[in-house]
Amino acid sequence: MDKNIPYKIYLSEDELPRQWYNVRADMKIKPAPLLNPATGNPVTLDEMSAIFCRELAKQELDNDTPYIDIPPEILDFYKMYRPAPLVRAYFLEKALGTPAKIYYKFEGNNTSGSHKLNSAIAQAYYAKQQGLKGVTTETGAGQWGTALSMACAYFGLDCKVYMVKVSYEQKPFRREVMRTYGANVTPSPSDTTEVGRKILAEFPGTGGSLGCAISEAVETALNTEGYRYVLGSVLAQVLLHQSVIGLETMTACDKYGIKPDIIIGCAGGGSNLGGLISPFMGRKLRGEADYKFVAVEPASCPSLTRGKYAYDFCDTGKVCPLSKMYTLGSGFIPSPNHAGGLRYHGMSSVLSELYDEGLIEARSVEQTAVFEAATQFARIEGTLPAPESSHAIRAAMDEALKCKETGEEKTILFGLTGTGYFDMVAYQKFNDGQMSDYIPSDEELEKSFAKLPNV
Ligand SMILES: *Cc1c(COP(=O)(O)O)cnc(C)c1O
Repeated sequence: MDKNIPYKIYLSEDELPRQWYNVRADMKIKPAPLLNPATGNPVTLDEMSAIFCRELAKQELDNDTPYIDIPPEILDFYKMYRPAPLVRAYFLEKALGTPAKIYYKFEGNNTSGSHKLNSAIAQAYYAKQQGLKGVTTETGAGQWGTALSMACAYFGLDCKVYMVKVSYEQKPFRREVMRTYGANVTPSPSDTTEVGRKILAEFPGTGGSLGCAISEAVETALNTEGYRYVLGSVLAQVLLHQSVIGLETMTACDKYGIKPDIIIGCAGGGSNLGGLISPFMGRKLRGEADYKFVAVEPASCPSLTRGKYAYDFCDTGKVCPLSKMYTLGSGFIPSPNHAGGLRYHGMSSVLSELYDEGLIEARSVEQTAVFEAATQFARIEGTLPAPESSHAIRAAMDEALKCKETGEEKTILFGLTGTGYFDMVAYQKFNDGQMSDYIPSDEELEKSFAKLPNV
């Protein structure tokens, strides 16, 4: 081990960022505006405020303010589990025999087990500030629902979670954690909403999807007095809150003279990757430094690598604003054998724009390769990673192995977004040799693209 760099770099509480960083402020080409599906015009603050909390709607529309103060109440909550450690993966480097230096920012040190709490607490805070009674949301694998339940419990807000039905059945313990924190959890599609009843009638026995759960959550928020809808990824406001990951990482890197060459993150809706890279991307956009950024997605849900950059619906029920993003089409549902999370059909409009300009690279990986990396990582570095995070581990290991061939001493940084304790059904499949890979065909994707809205 290098005596100048500890295995775990912990910042002090005083070194926590006091402001979030809004990367849109430094982007020369801004992400395309969200459109009202009824009028085709950019959504206004008032329209947004019918669905989202007003302050969050403001953040969503703010392309210009680079730094936004983190309210003291949120900063206090962050102190329960932040700063998060930046770990030098000495053991992994040694096991791989690579000259590369590998670092990871670990976001799994809280009960929800992922980075999602960083935005959940911010969204719950603004809902409370506005005097709301509660919020609604959807959750797929359950991390977001868990994080939001914790945040709502802290601020005394009601929390209604629509949980994708397959996950509700496969992950009873996630559901119980949410209920323990006081949330009301409904499997989606459900008969509690009009859109849910419609989908149930059309596809009886369906296991549900994120897009469908979003529609149910939005409908319930619109129909319930004192409620708004909140979302745990994709939106620009979520990337803003998640910039706390990147800001802490940057402070730690600068303090120890660490200069990452490659920064890697898994990409579902893009919030952890966006949060991790934001301040580094800011430096790149301002011409102060250069980095290679890599988004890693599942080969079974390849929105960046095989999607279209187009306006699309964010949900199945088509109630949310239209967003211009890399998308597989709002009707796209990954094959049922896909176990690794990151199953949203679209991608953050901020990351989509950066990717379209060539400022970010993207690659896709197959899930058996992902679980191989996850297992190796767990055995070597100790932490049992979430399947989502393991996409980034896969890519980081591949980069480190490339360095082994070329002899390059690159510095590789990746986001370890969470732990995998609730993903043991997926691990079980892998351990039993029953996990397979599925890559959608071009025809399948074309069919889905054909249903993109005409904007
Ligand atoms: C939700 C989640 C992700 C993917 O979401 P992003 O918005 O793309 O970051 C990744 N890892 C973990 C552990 C998650 O819970």
